[in-house]
Amino acid sequence: MPDPLSRLYENVCRHARETALLNSIESVLGWDERTMLPAAGGEHRADQMTLLAGMVHQRLIEPQYGDSLGQLAESPLAADPHSDSGATIRRLKRQHDKKVKLPQSLVEELARTSVLGQQAWQEARQNDDFAAMRPWLEKTFALKRQEADALGYADRPYDALLDDYEPEERTSHVAEVLRRLREELVPLVEAIRGSARRPDTSILRRTYPTDAQKAFGRQAAEQIGFDFQRGRLDVTAHPFCAGLGPNDCRITTRYNERFFNESFFGILHEAGHGIYDQGLRTDQYGLPLGEAISLGIHESQSRLWENLVGRSWPFWESFYPLAQQHFPAALGDVDPDDFYFAVNDVRASLIRVEADEATYNLHILIRFELEQALLDGDLPVADLPAAWNGKYRDYLGIEPSSDAAGVLQDVHWSAGLVGYFPTYSLGNLHSAQIFAAADAELGSLAQSFSQGEFQPLRQWLNEKIHQQGQRYSADELVMRITGKPLSHEPLMAHLRAKLGPLYGIA
Ligand code: ZN
Repeated sequence: MPDPLSRLYENVCRHARETALLNSIESVLGWDERTMLPAAGGEHRADQMTLLAGMVHQRLIEPQYGDSLGQLAESPLAADPHSDSGATIRRLKRQHDKKVKLPQSLVEELARTSVLGQQAWQEARQNDDFAAMRPWLEKTFALKRQEADALGYADRPYDALLDDYEPEERTSHVAEVLRRLREELVPLVEAIRGSARRPDTSILRRTYPTDAQKAFGRQAAEQIGFDFQRGRLDVTAHPFCAGLGPNDCRITTRYNERFFNESFFGILHEAGHGIYDQGLRTDQYGLPLGEAISLGIHESQSRLWENLVGRSWPFWESFYPLAQQHFPAALGDVDPDDFYFAVNDVRASLIRVEADEATYNLHILIRFELEQALLDGDLPVADLPAAWNGKYRDYLGIEPSSDAAGVLQDVHWSAGLVGYFPTYSLGNLHSAQIFAAADAELGSLAQSFSQGEFQPLRQWLNEKIHQQGQRYSADELVMRITGKPLSHEPLMAHLRAKLGPLYGIA
């Protein structure tokens, strides 16, 4: 017969697991919406998602569930915040305490606006019509401001929203880390712009048949460790990774016959997310120890496989001969050095998802600054396109010729994802810092990559990160793994070490 406290704990865990099941149903609908749903099905899908979001919210704020969490938080089970039960209680209580502040009507309105806003965005982007998007953005930012006010914040409204993606992170801290990154990144990008050396990127724009891309991408994903018994790869317009359950991880890509990078590096990226999801503890599914800690850490896993591994010379030592077999017409006469330089091309561009490893972070900085101004009310939505174009001129030296290639390119704001963008750059920073720690600890990673062997790195990431779930905060985790707080230095060191020799700059 279990004691009352254990019974209380079991009840709370069962409640959380069932909520996770409801959430995963929403994920299935979300995956379907982004891969299969006919345009006319949007209204009905919005009804489904709104109903589910409301049900999930009701469960999270149930008074009895909250009382139980309150009792458990004061009990010996929570005494050690990093123990299994301690971490579980702390995270669940934190989530409950946050959700309780949000009115049901606001939650449902946000869910509905997110689905309909995304659909409006698709059309607006296609027609290059910012005016059509404007009321949706105004509505979304007004709702997000209400959400921030309801949640409360210490410093800036943005803090309240950032917390959804980076629990316990602060806007001022992120801004400071990104400011330091920018100070060193802008001169590096300028030095590269001034270099006489340029890769021949036309080799990446030859013809790469879709079937061969499918086969090669799948082979690479499998080899770095994505498990196709527990996951799928499908086609979508805007690639993403969705964990639908403990043994069901969906990654997506899009194929462009005239551009090698799009699907190949996209697949490595999404497979990196997938390897994290597949590496979570299945026995803890639906509980904090079986869930990813933050979007920044999630993105660190995708960036690590995409860039630190997938754009490295040792990776192509083993993969280039395979690439030549898959694409004999495009790559038969291309030297591996030229191919390697081409996939590491750095240049200012307009589209975030096509940006290189270095300039990518400047795209994020622009969005991070604009969404804070929109939320604070310092920037009216009507002035957004002009502000967007001005920042591209200032940070990247180029300006979009249309809103479709400018402010309408990303789905995030129309989907209500405000506070999400900086997690991409946090992921880049984390990826370099984590990779440097793995390399120092394991040694000879380059040698194993050159032999097509990725298991030692994957195993290390699995133990240090994936299996930890939410036991530690993102900051604590990085400190434990790397011995240092988050810093821009490992990323800058990585970029200089790789790009310096390629572009002949110090
Ligand atoms: Zn990602």
